[in-house]
Amino acid sequence: MSEVEAIEVPGQVHYIDGSFVGSVSGDTFDVINPATEEVVTTAARGGAEDVALAVKAAKEAFDGGEWSHAKPSFRRKVLFKAADLIEARSAEVVARQTLEMGSPIGPDFGDKPHPVIERSAWNLRFFAEEQEQAGDHAFNRDDSLLTYTMAGAAGVFGLITPWNGPMMLSTWKMAPCLAYGNSAVHKPSEMSPLSIGVLCEIFEEAGMPNGVYNMLLGYGKEAGVPLVEHEDVIGVSFTGSPATARDIATRAAAGLKRTSFELGGKSANIVFADADLSKAVPAAAMGIFMNSGQVCVAGSRILVQQDIYDGFLEGFEKIAGAWQPGNPLDRKTRIGPLVSKSQYERVMSYLDLARNEGRILFGGGRPAGLDRGYFVEPTAIVDANPSARVCQEEIFGPVATIIPFSDKDEALAIANDSSYGLAGYIWTGSQDTAHYMSHRLQTGMIWINSGFDRDLRQPFGGMKNSGLGREGGGLSREFFTETRFVSFPLTPRGNHVAGH
Ligand code: NAD
Repeated sequence: MSEVEAIEVPGQVHYIDGSFVGSVSGDTFDVINPATEEVVTTAARGGAEDVALAVKAAKEAFDGGEWSHAKPSFRRKVLFKAADLIEARSAEVVARQTLEMGSPIGPDFGDKPHPVIERSAWNLRFFAEEQEQAGDHAFNRDDSLLTYTMAGAAGVFGLITPWNGPMMLSTWKMAPCLAYGNSAVHKPSEMSPLSIGVLCEIFEEAGMPNGVYNMLLGYGKEAGVPLVEHEDVIGVSFTGSPATARDIATRAAAGLKRTSFELGGKSANIVFADADLSKAVPAAAMGIFMNSGQVCVAGSRILVQQDIYDGFLEGFEKIAGAWQPGNPLDRKTRIGPLVSKSQYERVMSYLDLARNEGRILFGGGRPAGLDRGYFVEPTAIVDANPSARVCQEEIFGPVATIIPFSDKDEALAIANDSSYGLAGYIWTGSQDTAHYMSHRLQTGMIWINSGFDRDLRQPFGGMKNSGLGREGGGLSREFFTETRFVSFPLTPRGNHVAGH
């Protein structure tokens, strides 16, 4: 038995007002290990009554001011301590993520944190510093009037997150939300309720005042909807699918709440004939096979210039051989199963569709020797029309569609013919081509001869159905603070009304 298999995860409960509590109803749901289809443990199944308790705690904490009016240096201290604790418990968090959503446990990093956990800790540190260093504006153009702006804590936010990167995506939202002094009620995905429990213990140990961060487990319709609709929740930051975002937008509009949406994608990875293929081919494989393709910015449409198309297919198939699925608890495994039975069935239905709309170059089914678990082979689809469903819809599995193009403008026409607009990847040896494409690609983020790197000040997010709003640095501050002005006359002279 490996060290990871030995981990026992107790039943998971909500974290409300600094206490670990079950649902008022006493209801729970099973947490399934997607690699074995076995029940790992149970989790509390939250509903409207639990939401009411969590929001009440968050509101009281906000109004009490212990966090919302604390000195920025205090908030920095607590968040830095939480970041250190996240890193210290890296192995445990990674093991829980493996059990809940099947992501490979990866190499043994010894005393060092796993890179995903290091990044999660960094999210906290980054915004802890950002809020301490942020300044406001003073407008003081003459000696009769002093007026200044204040961007301060705004209230209680609902944070709703998906399962495909539980710790990284959750900390990415909660870091700015909490750093700027707000209170939060966080609802992680029902498919990944294990790793977040560790975070609750960490916030407690780090000295976060009770009620500032609350975590509620449960399903979208039962716990997510009442959270969005609660009158004391002033805004919702959501990462997930466009369909859910539409539902949240409708409900939030009724309460005039602010929303921020980070949604799905069908991102084009464009490889020109003058690209360095020794880098572009492995990056294309990583871009679609990493995390079994369950990545919002996955390069799921690979566009390849006609002149190198055949050679690219050959190289891509060869390199895909290194991405064979396996037991995610094995340290050598690079891709595990999909997260759930429904996700497995969904991806399989797209593979059936691909046989009609195009041709399966390799993969296309369940890997040999893996009879249990929601495993899917890395797959490439070719010969499909760019307007076919497999080229247009987000499959969210290890499935690439590969499409040839003749020149820059045809590549742009294919890439932009999408209801999504999250990321774009351009592989070329020409700066001119890179800039030409960057200015015309309809996506929120563009990587040239690279992928995934990001300065945390950059605006993360997408166009079209890929999102509304951006997260990162000052943009997160804008969303998670209330900007007001204060004005007072210094002398009786001057006409203060005229300037408004
Ligand atoms: P989902 O929309 O089904 O669920 C996301 C979260 O919303 C879960 O916590 C769920 O319980 C909750 N939810 C569901 N219905 C709700 C409702 N009506 N009201 C309130 N909450 C509700 O998405 P998912 O399947 O968990 O995640 C996959 C999707 O997320 C993909 O489309 C993927 O591309 C996207 N995603 C985007 C990013 C990004 O940053 N752009 C990152 C990761 C994932």
